Parts: sequence; C-alpha cells; structure tokens
Amino acid sequence: MTRVANSLETLRDQINARFPGRNIASDGGVGDEAHQKKGKASDHNPWYGPGIVTARDFTHDPAHGLNIQEIADQLLASRDPRIKYVIANGRIATNRDWQWAPYDGANPHEAHFHISVVADPRCDDAHPWALPILGGGNGGGAEPGMFVTWGTGVNVRTEPRLGAPVVTVLAGPTRVRVGCQTRGDMVNTAGRNNDAWSHLPDFGGYISNIFIDHPAAWLPDVGEC
Ligand SMILES: [Zn+2]
Repeated sequence: MTRVANSLETLRDQINARFPGRNIASDGGVGDEAHQKKGKASDHNPWYGPGIVTARDFTHDPAHGLNIQEIADQLLASRDPRIKYVIANGRIATNRDWQWAPYDGANPHEAHFHISVVADPRCDDAHPWALPILGGGNGGGAEPGMFVTWGTGVNVRTEPRLGAPVVTVLAGPTRVRVGCQTRGDMVNTAGRNNDAWSHLPDFGGYISNIFIDHPAAWLPDVGEC
C-alpha cells in the first residue's frame, strides 16, 4: 500500500498544528498532479521499499505564518539526517553540503516548497522536527536545553573523548540538561557517526550526542562550549 514516509507525516502534523487554517492548495504527497503528469522519476512516486513516497510539498502561505523560505532555511540549518534535499524559490539544497544552488526544474517552487527525505529506514523516523518556526528548537515546545538520553550504561566522561575518565553512568534513558556542546572523539553506534558531545553541568561531564534522543547530530539552540 502506498503511503508517505512517517517523518514527512510528522512534519505535516507539526505544520498543521502550528498554522491552523493554512492554505493547502499546493500541498502534495503521493504523486500530485504537478509531479506526475510529466511522467518522470520523482520522489513523489512510491519507489522506496514497500511503496513509500519520500517527498512532500507544503504551500507558501505567509498570511498564516508559513513562509516557505523561512522554513526551508531552518530545515537546512537543522542538518536533520532525514533530509535528502529541499527546493524553494528557484533553488535547491541537498544533504551533500546544505547550501542553496540554482534549481533548473520546470516548476520554480514559489507556491510551495518541496522536501525529500532519504530513501533508507531513517525516512520513517517519526521524531518531531526541531525547527524554531514550528515552536521549539528541541522537539517542539520542550524546555530549552533539556533532552532525553537513550541506551543503557551511557558513560559521562570528564572530557569529550572516549578515553577520558568516567564520572558517572546513566543506567537508562535520562532527562538531562545540556549546557553546551563541542567536537570530540567520533562515536559510531547504531549505524550513525557523530563527533559532537554535550556537556551536562548537572553531572559534571560529557556524553556523546549519539546518546541524545534527537534526530540532529548537532543539537539546535544549544551553544558551543
Ligand atoms: Zn514536490
């Protein structure tokens, strides 16, 4: 059965909740007309896995607060690993370098922006998208700087290095305050690499950001140490 990737359904839910009454005239998910009638390869077609569409369009409606350039810029700034590329206002940016470049497609995407997510299991990661325009930089309305860890036996270390002494161990998922973040040793867990580490002032040490339950490798709205 054809469906849209769960990450994009979460994004639509967040956008709908944030901008009630918004215009959806140019919204699209599964093979909308504008993309289908050209008969070309498109992320709007259910081509990944068991019929999963990995793209969505959202209508430009600044009167209701949804400015496509603003949200597109914030998506790029988030470096969310679920993003493949974003198109808005005649430009495209991909997850290769997150930089805007001219878009030469037939539709300049001025009435809507387009987002494609990656064609791998991350496309079904339904975590909230952490964008300021959606009302919160860390998962939608949570207290700033507060995050939840995942995993068991997570070491808190004196320095952002794997060889640094352990000051305490987080037995299981723990709500933590992140004071700042910095670059340290690369950590590879569950198929992800991340060299960002968070300083936890309440524990007096650092944990790898890979153990923070948030889709972004570098946490939004948290300063650098
Ligand atoms: Zn599109």
